[in-house]
Amino acid sequence: MIRALRGMKDTLPPQSKTYEYFIQNATQIIKKHGFEYIQTPILEESVLFKRSVGDSSDIVGKEMYQFIDKGGNDVCLRPEATAGVVRSFIEHKYDKQGGAFKFFYHGAMFRYERPQKGRFREFRQFGAESFGEESYLEDVRILTIIKEILDFFKIEYTLKLNSLGCQKCMPPYKKELVKFLNQQKDLCSDCLRRKDTNPIRVFDCKNQKCQEILKPAPKLNSNLCDECRNDFKALIKMLDRLNIEYEIDLNLVRGLDYYNKSAFEFVSGQIGAQNAVAAGGRYDKLVEFLGGKPTPAIGFAIGVERILQMINSPKEKRVGSYFGALCDEAIEEIFILANRQKDHEKVHISYQSKSLKAHLKAADKANAKKCIIIGEDELKTKIPWQKDLD
Ligand code: ATP
Ligand code: MG
Repeated sequence: MIRALRGMKDTLPPQSKTYEYFIQNATQIIKKHGFEYIQTPILEESVLFKRSVGDSSDIVGKEMYQFIDKGGNDVCLRPEATAGVVRSFIEHKYDKQGGAFKFFYHGAMFRYERPQKGRFREFRQFGAESFGEESYLEDVRILTIIKEILDFFKIEYTLKLNSLGCQKCMPPYKKELVKFLNQQKDLCSDCLRRKDTNPIRVFDCKNQKCQEILKPAPKLNSNLCDECRNDFKALIKMLDRLNIEYEIDLNLVRGLDYYNKSAFEFVSGQIGAQNAVAAGGRYDKLVEFLGGKPTPAIGFAIGVERILQMINSPKEKRVGSYFGALCDEAIEEIFILANRQKDHEKVHISYQSKSLKAHLKAADKANAKKCIIIGEDELKTKIPWQKDLD
Protein backbone atom coordinates (compact mmCIF):
# COMPACT_ATOMS: atom_id res chain seq x y z
CA MET A 1 0.00 0.00 0.00
CA ILE A 2 1.21 3.50 -0.80
CA ARG A 3 1.04 5.81 2.19
CA ALA A 4 1.56 9.53 2.70
CA LEU A 5 5.17 10.48 3.47
CA ARG A 6 6.40 10.55 7.06
CA GLY A 7 5.45 13.79 8.77
CA MET A 8 2.84 14.61 6.11
CA LYS A 9 -0.85 14.00 6.45
CA ASP A 10 -4.24 14.17 4.77
CA THR A 11 -6.87 16.51 6.13
CA LEU A 12 -10.31 14.97 5.77
CA PRO A 13 -13.74 16.00 7.07
CA PRO A 14 -14.53 16.96 9.80
CA GLN A 15 -10.94 18.30 10.35
CA SER A 16 -10.93 19.86 6.89
CA LYS A 17 -14.12 21.74 7.82
CA THR A 18 -12.41 23.10 10.91
CA TYR A 19 -9.51 24.12 8.68
CA GLU A 20 -11.84 26.03 6.36
CA TYR A 21 -13.59 27.57 9.34
CA PHE A 22 -10.26 28.85 10.68
CA ILE A 23 -9.02 30.23 7.35
CA GLN A 24 -12.34 31.93 6.55
CA ASN A 25 -12.60 33.72 9.87
CA ALA A 26 -8.92 34.60 10.19
CA THR A 27 -9.13 36.00 6.63
CA GLN A 28 -12.12 38.12 7.53
CA ILE A 29 -10.31 39.55 10.54
CA ILE A 30 -7.04 40.33 8.76
CA LYS A 31 -8.82 41.95 5.79
CA LYS A 32 -10.60 44.25 8.19
CA HIS A 33 -7.16 45.62 9.08
CA GLY A 34 -6.27 46.40 5.46
CA PHE A 35 -4.28 43.28 4.52
CA GLU A 36 -4.64 41.83 1.01
CA TYR A 37 -4.14 38.23 -0.10
CA ILE A 38 -0.81 37.28 -1.67
CA GLN A 39 0.28 33.96 -3.20
CA THR A 40 3.91 33.18 -3.78
CA PRO A 41 5.40 29.93 -5.13
CA ILE A 42 5.97 26.98 -2.84
CA LEU A 43 9.29 26.33 -4.57
CA GLU A 44 11.97 29.01 -4.51
CA GLU A 45 15.71 29.21 -5.10
CA SER A 46 17.52 27.81 -2.06
CA VAL A 47 19.71 30.89 -1.86
CA LEU A 48 16.66 32.99 -0.96
CA PHE A 49 16.18 31.14 2.32
CA LYS A 50 19.89 30.83 2.99
CA ARG A 51 20.24 34.56 2.77
CA SER A 52 17.05 35.69 4.48
CA VAL A 53 16.30 33.07 7.11
CA GLY A 54 20.04 32.66 7.55
CA ASP A 55 22.58 29.86 7.35
CA SER A 56 22.91 29.76 11.13
CA SER A 57 19.21 28.98 11.73
CA ASP A 58 17.95 25.46 12.33
CA ILE A 59 15.50 26.03 9.49
CA VAL A 60 18.29 26.45 6.95
CA GLY A 61 21.01 24.49 8.73
CA LYS A 62 19.00 21.30 9.19
CA GLU A 63 15.40 21.47 8.02
CA MET A 64 15.38 22.48 4.35
CA TYR A 65 13.70 20.34 1.68
CA GLN A 66 16.40 21.24 -0.78
CA PHE A 67 17.17 19.54 -4.10
CA ILE A 68 18.55 20.10 -7.59
CA ASP A 69 15.79 20.24 -10.20
CA LYS A 70 16.03 18.84 -13.73
CA GLY A 71 17.46 22.11 -14.99
CA GLY A 72 20.25 21.97 -12.42
CA ASN A 73 18.75 24.72 -10.23
CA ASP A 74 19.28 24.53 -6.49
CA VAL A 75 15.70 24.85 -5.18
CA CYS A 76 13.85 24.41 -1.90
CA LEU A 77 10.28 23.87 -0.72
CA ARG A 78 9.54 26.97 1.34
CA PRO A 79 10.12 26.46 5.07
CA GLU A 80 8.35 29.75 5.80
CA ALA A 81 6.70 32.48 3.75
CA THR A 82 8.37 35.77 4.72
CA ALA A 83 11.35 35.26 2.41
CA GLY A 84 9.13 34.61 -0.62
CA VAL A 85 6.85 37.56 0.13
CA VAL A 86 9.86 39.88 0.48
CA ARG A 87 11.34 38.56 -2.78
CA SER A 88 8.02 39.17 -4.51
CA PHE A 89 7.70 42.64 -2.96
CA ILE A 90 11.07 43.61 -4.42
CA GLU A 91 10.62 41.80 -7.75
CA HIS A 92 7.36 43.68 -8.37
CA LYS A 93 8.94 47.00 -7.36
CA TYR A 94 6.66 47.79 -4.44
CA ASP A 95 9.75 49.03 -2.58
CA LYS A 96 10.28 51.73 -5.25
CA GLN A 97 6.72 53.05 -4.85
CA GLY A 98 7.06 53.94 -1.19
CA GLY A 99 4.12 53.94 1.23
CA ALA A 100 2.59 51.08 3.19
CA PHE A 101 1.70 47.65 1.78
CA LYS A 102 0.09 44.86 3.73
CA PHE A 103 -0.22 41.25 2.64
CA PHE A 104 -1.54 38.06 4.19
CA TYR A 105 -1.07 34.46 3.07
CA HIS A 106 -1.90 30.92 4.06
CA GLY A 107 -0.57 27.64 2.83
CA ALA A 108 1.85 24.76 3.22
CA MET A 109 5.38 25.08 4.58
CA PHE A 110 7.98 22.28 4.63
CA ARG A 111 10.62 21.48 7.20
CA TYR A 112 12.56 18.27 7.46
CA GLU A 113 12.09 17.87 11.23
CA ARG A 114 11.53 14.86 13.46
CA PRO A 115 7.74 14.38 13.32
CA GLN A 116 5.93 14.43 16.67
CA LYS A 117 2.77 15.87 18.16
CA GLY A 118 2.36 19.40 16.80
CA ARG A 119 5.41 19.06 14.55
CA PHE A 120 5.07 17.96 10.95
CA ARG A 121 7.21 18.01 7.83
CA GLU A 122 4.39 19.61 5.87
CA PHE A 123 2.32 22.03 7.91
CA ARG A 124 0.27 25.14 7.27
CA GLN A 125 0.72 28.71 8.31
CA PHE A 126 -1.58 31.71 8.21
CA GLY A 127 0.50 34.85 8.31
CA ALA A 128 0.95 38.45 7.27
CA GLU A 129 3.66 40.93 6.36
CA SER A 130 3.36 44.69 6.70
CA PHE A 131 5.81 46.86 4.73
CA GLY A 132 6.59 50.56 5.05
CA GLU A 133 5.43 51.23 8.61
CA GLU A 134 8.28 52.22 10.88
CA SER A 135 6.23 53.11 13.95
CA TYR A 136 6.05 50.85 16.98
CA LEU A 137 2.28 51.36 16.67
CA GLU A 138 2.30 48.94 13.75
CA ASP A 139 3.91 46.37 16.07
CA VAL A 140 1.06 46.96 18.51
CA ARG A 141 -1.45 46.65 15.68
CA ILE A 142 0.03 43.32 14.56
CA LEU A 143 -0.15 42.02 18.13
CA THR A 144 -3.80 43.11 18.43
CA ILE A 145 -4.64 41.36 15.15
CA ILE A 146 -3.14 38.05 16.32
CA LYS A 147 -4.93 38.51 19.62
CA GLU A 148 -8.20 39.17 17.80
CA ILE A 149 -7.79 35.97 15.80
CA LEU A 150 -6.88 33.82 18.82
CA ASP A 151 -9.68 35.38 20.88
CA PHE A 152 -12.21 34.70 18.12
CA PHE A 153 -11.40 31.00 18.39
CA LYS A 154 -11.34 31.17 22.21
CA ILE A 155 -7.72 30.04 22.42
CA GLU A 156 -5.81 30.58 25.66
CA TYR A 157 -2.33 32.00 25.26
CA THR A 158 0.52 33.98 26.75
CA LEU A 159 2.21 36.66 24.69
CA LYS A 160 5.99 36.68 25.07
CA LEU A 161 7.93 39.73 23.99
CA ASN A 162 11.51 40.81 23.56
CA SER A 163 13.51 43.41 21.69
CA LEU A 164 16.36 42.21 19.50
CA GLY A 165 17.94 45.64 19.08
CA CYS A 166 19.27 46.98 15.80
CA GLN A 167 22.43 47.34 13.67
CA LYS A 168 23.70 49.84 16.24
CA CYS A 169 23.28 47.96 19.50
CA MET A 170 23.52 44.39 18.25
CA PRO A 171 27.23 44.17 17.19
CA PRO A 172 28.73 45.38 20.53
CA TYR A 173 26.29 43.13 22.37
CA LYS A 174 27.22 40.11 20.25
CA LYS A 175 30.89 40.70 21.11
CA GLU A 176 30.06 40.71 24.79
CA LEU A 177 27.96 37.56 24.44
CA VAL A 178 30.71 35.73 22.55
CA LYS A 179 33.14 36.67 25.30
CA PHE A 180 30.78 35.06 27.80
CA LEU A 181 30.25 31.98 25.60
CA ASN A 182 34.00 31.51 25.17
CA GLN A 183 34.31 31.12 28.93
CA GLN A 184 31.70 28.35 29.05
CA LYS A 185 32.51 24.68 28.84
CA ASP A 186 29.84 22.07 28.05
CA LEU A 187 27.88 24.02 25.44
CA CYS A 188 26.29 21.62 22.96
CA SER A 189 27.80 21.32 19.48
CA ASP A 190 24.91 23.33 18.00
CA CYS A 191 25.61 26.20 20.37
CA LEU A 192 29.31 26.09 19.56
CA ARG A 193 28.36 26.46 15.91
CA ARG A 194 25.93 29.26 16.76
CA LYS A 195 28.65 31.08 18.68
CA ASP A 196 30.56 31.50 15.44
CA THR A 197 27.66 32.08 13.06
CA ASN A 198 24.97 34.00 14.96
CA PRO A 199 25.59 33.90 18.71
CA ILE A 200 22.18 35.19 19.89
CA ARG A 201 20.65 31.99 18.59
CA VAL A 202 22.11 30.12 21.54
CA PHE A 203 19.09 31.40 23.50
CA ASP A 204 16.88 29.37 21.19
CA CYS A 205 18.65 26.10 22.12
CA LYS A 206 16.22 23.38 23.18
CA ASN A 207 18.97 21.68 25.27
CA GLN A 208 18.21 22.03 29.01
CA LYS A 209 21.90 22.08 29.96
CA CYS A 210 22.62 24.97 27.62
CA GLN A 211 19.67 26.88 29.06
CA GLU A 212 21.22 26.50 32.55
CA ILE A 213 24.60 27.69 31.31
CA LEU A 214 22.97 30.70 29.65
CA LYS A 215 21.13 31.95 32.74
CA PRO A 216 23.91 34.40 33.76
CA ALA A 217 24.68 35.39 30.13
CA PRO A 218 24.47 39.10 29.23
CA LYS A 219 21.00 39.86 27.91
CA LEU A 220 20.44 41.90 24.79
CA ASN A 221 17.52 43.75 26.25
CA SER A 222 19.73 45.42 28.85
CA ASN A 223 22.18 46.57 26.14
CA LEU A 224 19.74 48.31 23.79
CA CYS A 225 20.56 51.68 22.21
CA ASP A 226 18.36 54.67 23.07
CA GLU A 227 16.15 54.34 20.01
CA CYS A 228 15.48 50.63 20.53
CA ARG A 229 14.95 51.08 24.25
CA ASN A 230 12.49 53.95 23.71
CA ASP A 231 10.59 52.06 21.03
CA PHE A 232 10.31 49.01 23.25
CA LYS A 233 9.15 51.13 26.18
CA ALA A 234 6.55 52.89 24.03
CA LEU A 235 5.31 49.54 22.72
CA ILE A 236 4.89 48.15 26.21
CA LYS A 237 3.20 51.30 27.44
CA MET A 238 0.69 51.06 24.62
CA LEU A 239 0.02 47.38 25.39
CA ASP A 240 -0.63 48.42 28.99
CA ARG A 241 -3.03 51.12 27.87
CA LEU A 242 -4.89 48.58 25.74
CA ASN A 243 -4.95 46.09 28.64
CA ILE A 244 -3.05 43.52 26.61
CA GLU A 245 -1.14 41.16 28.87
CA TYR A 246 2.41 40.08 28.03
CA GLU A 247 5.55 38.60 29.52
CA ILE A 248 8.96 39.98 28.69
CA ASP A 249 11.15 37.01 27.79
CA LEU A 250 14.80 37.99 27.56
CA ASN A 251 15.66 34.62 25.99
CA LEU A 252 13.25 35.05 23.12
CA VAL A 253 15.10 35.21 19.80
CA ARG A 254 13.58 34.50 16.44
CA GLY A 255 14.31 32.01 13.68
CA LEU A 256 15.38 34.53 11.07
CA ASP A 257 18.76 36.24 11.13
CA TYR A 258 17.33 39.56 10.02
CA TYR A 259 14.82 40.18 12.76
CA ASN A 260 15.37 43.36 14.75
CA LYS A 261 13.54 45.29 17.47
CA SER A 262 10.28 43.61 18.53
CA ALA A 263 10.15 39.84 18.52
CA PHE A 264 7.18 37.96 19.90
CA GLU A 265 5.65 34.56 20.37
CA PHE A 266 2.20 33.42 21.47
CA VAL A 267 2.34 30.17 23.44
CA SER A 268 -0.60 28.13 24.62
CA GLY A 269 -0.86 25.79 27.58
CA GLN A 270 -3.57 23.78 25.82
CA ILE A 271 -1.42 21.76 23.40
CA GLY A 272 1.57 20.14 25.11
CA ALA A 273 5.27 20.50 24.37
CA GLN A 274 5.04 22.18 20.93
CA ASN A 275 3.29 25.14 22.47
CA ALA A 276 4.14 28.04 20.13
CA VAL A 277 1.03 28.90 18.13
CA ALA A 278 2.15 32.15 16.54
CA ALA A 279 5.37 34.07 16.21
CA GLY A 280 6.86 37.02 14.44
CA GLY A 281 8.64 40.29 14.68
CA ARG A 282 10.18 43.25 12.93
CA TYR A 283 12.69 42.81 10.10
CA ASP A 284 13.59 46.32 8.98
CA LYS A 285 16.79 45.32 7.16
CA LEU A 286 15.59 42.34 5.14
CA VAL A 287 14.19 44.18 2.10
CA GLU A 288 17.44 46.08 1.69
CA PHE A 289 19.47 42.96 2.36
CA LEU A 290 17.71 41.13 -0.49
CA GLY A 291 18.46 43.99 -2.89
CA GLY A 292 15.44 46.26 -2.43
CA LYS A 293 15.11 49.85 -1.30
CA PRO A 294 15.33 50.09 2.51
CA THR A 295 11.80 49.39 3.81
CA PRO A 296 10.79 48.77 7.41
CA ALA A 297 8.67 45.66 7.85
CA ILE A 298 7.04 43.43 10.41
CA GLY A 299 5.25 40.10 10.11
CA PHE A 300 3.87 37.07 11.88
CA ALA A 301 2.86 33.48 11.21
CA ILE A 302 0.30 31.32 12.97
CA GLY A 303 0.81 27.53 13.00
CA VAL A 304 -2.56 26.32 11.77
CA GLU A 305 -2.23 22.64 12.85
CA ARG A 306 -1.56 23.70 16.42
CA ILE A 307 -4.68 25.90 16.34
CA LEU A 308 -6.80 23.07 14.90
CA GLN A 309 -5.95 20.94 17.94
CA MET A 310 -7.80 23.49 20.05
CA ILE A 311 -10.93 24.32 18.08
CA ASN A 312 -13.99 22.71 16.52
CA SER A 313 -16.00 24.22 13.73
CA PRO A 314 -19.53 25.08 14.86
CA LYS A 315 -22.36 22.90 13.59
CA GLU A 316 -23.19 24.10 10.11
CA LYS A 317 -26.59 25.47 9.19
CA ARG A 318 -28.73 23.38 6.86
CA VAL A 319 -28.30 24.47 3.25
CA GLY A 320 -29.65 23.52 -0.16
CA SER A 321 -32.07 20.85 -1.29
CA TYR A 322 -32.13 17.08 -1.45
CA PHE A 323 -33.92 15.46 -4.39
CA GLY A 324 -35.19 11.89 -4.31
CA ALA A 325 -37.51 9.54 -6.23
CA LEU A 326 -39.96 7.03 -4.73
CA CYS A 327 -40.22 4.87 -7.87
CA ASP A 328 -37.95 4.13 -10.82
CA GLU A 329 -40.14 6.10 -13.25
CA ALA A 330 -39.53 9.25 -11.19
CA ILE A 331 -35.71 9.08 -11.12
CA GLU A 332 -35.13 10.98 -14.37
CA GLU A 333 -37.90 13.47 -13.54
CA ILE A 334 -36.30 14.33 -10.18
CA PHE A 335 -32.88 14.56 -11.88
CA ILE A 336 -34.25 17.10 -14.39
CA LEU A 337 -35.98 19.06 -11.62
CA ALA A 338 -32.78 19.17 -9.55
CA ASN A 339 -30.83 20.38 -12.55
CA ARG A 340 -33.15 23.36 -12.91
CA GLN A 341 -32.02 24.76 -9.54
CA LYS A 342 -30.05 27.86 -10.38
CA ASP A 343 -29.91 29.60 -7.02
CA HIS A 344 -26.34 28.43 -6.23
CA GLU A 345 -27.55 26.51 -3.22
CA LYS A 346 -26.16 23.07 -2.58
CA VAL A 347 -27.92 20.29 -4.52
CA HIS A 348 -27.99 16.63 -3.46
CA ILE A 349 -29.49 14.16 -5.93
CA SER A 350 -30.25 10.53 -5.19
CA TYR A 351 -30.09 8.23 -8.25
CA GLN A 352 -31.98 5.41 -6.57
CA SER A 353 -35.67 5.11 -5.82
CA LYS A 354 -36.20 4.60 -2.10
CA SER A 355 -38.87 4.90 0.57
CA LEU A 356 -39.74 8.36 1.84
CA LYS A 357 -38.25 7.48 5.21
CA ALA A 358 -34.91 6.49 3.62
CA HIS A 359 -34.78 9.73 1.62
CA LEU A 360 -35.57 11.87 4.66
CA LYS A 361 -32.78 10.16 6.56
CA ALA A 362 -30.32 10.73 3.71
CA ALA A 363 -31.41 14.37 3.37
CA ASP A 364 -30.82 14.87 7.08
CA LYS A 365 -27.36 13.30 6.83
CA ALA A 366 -26.53 15.58 3.91
CA ASN A 367 -27.55 18.52 6.12
CA ALA A 368 -30.00 19.72 3.45
CA LYS A 369 -32.54 22.36 4.26
CA LYS A 370 -35.27 21.07 1.94
CA CYS A 371 -36.24 17.56 0.87
CA ILE A 372 -38.00 17.38 -2.51
CA ILE A 373 -39.61 14.11 -3.58
CA ILE A 374 -41.38 12.71 -6.65
CA GLY A 375 -43.39 9.48 -6.47
CA GLU A 376 -46.26 8.04 -8.47
CA ASP A 377 -48.76 10.62 -7.18
CA GLU A 378 -46.45 13.54 -7.94
CA LEU A 379 -45.84 12.20 -11.46
CA LYS A 380 -49.61 12.46 -12.00
CA THR A 381 -50.17 15.86 -10.35
CA LYS A 382 -46.81 17.23 -11.62
CA ILE A 383 -46.33 18.89 -8.23
CA PRO A 384 -43.37 17.60 -6.22
CA TRP A 385 -43.70 16.87 -2.51
CA GLN A 386 -41.56 19.11 -0.30
CA LYS A 387 -40.47 19.24 3.33
CA ASP A 388 -38.53 21.89 5.22
CA LEU A 389 -35.99 20.06 7.38
CA ASP A 390 -35.31 23.03 9.67
P1 ATP B 1 9.26 25.76 17.14
O1 ATP B 1 9.98 26.46 18.25
O2 ATP B 1 7.99 25.08 17.59
O3 ATP B 1 10.15 24.89 16.32
P2 ATP B 1 9.63 27.80 15.15
O4 ATP B 1 10.28 28.91 15.88
O5 ATP B 1 10.45 26.89 14.31
O6 ATP B 1 8.74 26.93 16.18
P3 ATP B 1 8.33 29.62 13.35
O7 ATP B 1 9.33 29.50 12.29
O8 ATP B 1 8.28 30.82 14.19
O9 ATP B 1 8.41 28.32 14.30
O10 ATP B 1 6.87 29.35 12.72
C1 ATP B 1 5.68 29.95 13.22
C2 ATP B 1 4.71 28.92 13.74
O11 ATP B 1 4.56 27.83 12.83
C3 ATP B 1 5.13 28.25 15.03
O12 ATP B 1 4.80 29.04 16.13
C4 ATP B 1 4.32 26.96 15.00
O13 ATP B 1 3.00 27.19 15.45
C5 ATP B 1 4.28 26.63 13.53
N1 ATP B 1 5.27 25.59 13.20
C6 ATP B 1 6.61 25.71 13.04
N2 ATP B 1 7.18 24.55 12.69
C7 ATP B 1 6.16 23.63 12.63
C8 ATP B 1 6.08 22.23 12.32
N3 ATP B 1 7.16 21.53 11.97
N4 ATP B 1 4.87 21.63 12.36
C9 ATP B 1 3.76 22.33 12.68
N5 ATP B 1 3.76 23.63 12.98
C10 ATP B 1 4.94 24.30 12.96
MG1 MG C 1 11.30 25.04 14.59
